[in-house]
Amino acid sequence: MNILNYTEDHHAFRKRFNEYLAREVIPYAAQWEKDHIIPKEAWKKVGQAGFLCTNVDKKYGGMGGDFLYSTIVCQELTKTCQTGLAMSLHSDVVVPYIDEYGSEEMKQRFLPGCVSGDIVTAVAMTEPDAGSDLSSLKTTAVEDGDEIIISGSKTFISNGIHCDAVVVAARDPKIDNPYQAMSLYIVEDGTPGFSRGRHLDKMGWHSQDTAELFFNDCRIPKENLLGEKGYGFLMLMGKLQQERLVCSMGAIYGARQVINGAVDYFKTTKDASGKPLSKYQAIQFALVEMETEVKIAETFVDKLIADHMEKKDVKTETSMAKFWTTDLANRVTGRCIEMMEDLGMVEQNPLVQAWRDFRITSIFAGTNEIMKFIIAKLMQL
Ligand SMILES: Cc1cc2nc3c(=O)[nH]c(=O)nc-3n(C[C@H](O)[C@H](O)[C@H](O)COP(=O)(O)OP(=O)(O)OC[C@H]3O[C@@H](n4cnc5c(N)ncnc54)[C@H](O)[C@@H]3O)c2cc1C
Repeated sequence: MNILNYTEDHHAFRKRFNEYLAREVIPYAAQWEKDHIIPKEAWKKVGQAGFLCTNVDKKYGGMGGDFLYSTIVCQELTKTCQTGLAMSLHSDVVVPYIDEYGSEEMKQRFLPGCVSGDIVTAVAMTEPDAGSDLSSLKTTAVEDGDEIIISGSKTFISNGIHCDAVVVAARDPKIDNPYQAMSLYIVEDGTPGFSRGRHLDKMGWHSQDTAELFFNDCRIPKENLLGEKGYGFLMLMGKLQQERLVCSMGAIYGARQVINGAVDYFKTTKDASGKPLSKYQAIQFALVEMETEVKIAETFVDKLIADHMEKKDVKTETSMAKFWTTDLANRVTGRCIEMMEDLGMVEQNPLVQAWRDFRITSIFAGTNEIMKFIIAKLMQL
């Protein structure tokens, strides 16, 4: 039984996207990992090929597709083992803020560039002293005539180096209640007072740029307020369902890659007597256990995708999926590496990169402890 109904159009899109990846991404993925960044050109190329922001309406240059196009992009991109071309972050996490909350003028100004890859986006919430607890944000936004002055710093911002437009969470210092004080603003590259700090060197996700951002009396036009003033926290919360779902998709599509790779490895690797390792019951049972868990998670995530597409409220379930699938991906990868013994440890083994990359997934988009904290609240515990 298929939970998700992919049409002929979806299949054709997947085929075109895979051809694109084979030509423009896979040959360069290893080099991008070594460089710890991708060339900015890669964003324009993929945008011009029609694979960014597939959900954006045709009148802004998008294809007006449903969320299944996002699942295809996420699934196929995961197989390339590179994280720099963070298409899901741009198309399914950041651009939806502009698409849903932006004024008509703002949409006309930004969305066509987001679709074409001329505008790479980022979202900046985290600060040196404010991660999980957004109520402790210190970045301020002060109105001054037709302008807003943003002051403060952000850290661990994905696409921080390449971004042309950043959705920044900042607070009005005159309002005491931190939730009512928070608004979202778009800061554009080149605005005086906006600068980038260190390009952070991470244990995984090497090809993805993650950076510090600084706002030093950075003056933006009032029109760059996203949505209504004081609704920043609610807007962030409103978009977390999709963000957590996208994280779960990335984790489970990655775990599927790992388990498929491990099954191949144990079937084709033989012991001294010529017996494939997959014929040993200890190996079989371990692979069966992991395959079972991955299959259960795939089914759960597919059901959440279907529910999300029907606009159901699945905040509790997507929070469950985020912590469970990212933990599962970590668990499966670690166990497979151990079962491969010495070969599991060599840098050339793709699972080594997967192990490093998955480690990060339990931290971003809300740590897995925070997911449990939210679920406990939603369960009224
Ligand atoms: C690779 C990467 C990319 C990122 N990209 C972005 C981005 O694009 N934009 C952005 O804004 N941020 C980004 N982040 C930041 C990320 O969202 C934060 O790291 C995360 O929210 C945790 O914040 P923190 O690191 O300050 O940890 P803290 O909030 O200080 O938490 C420290 C530890 O305490 C635990 N903890 C905190 N509060 C509670 C609680 N109430 N109950 C139980 N345990 C708790 C946490 O789970 C964690 O283990 C990124 C991070 C990484 C690593």
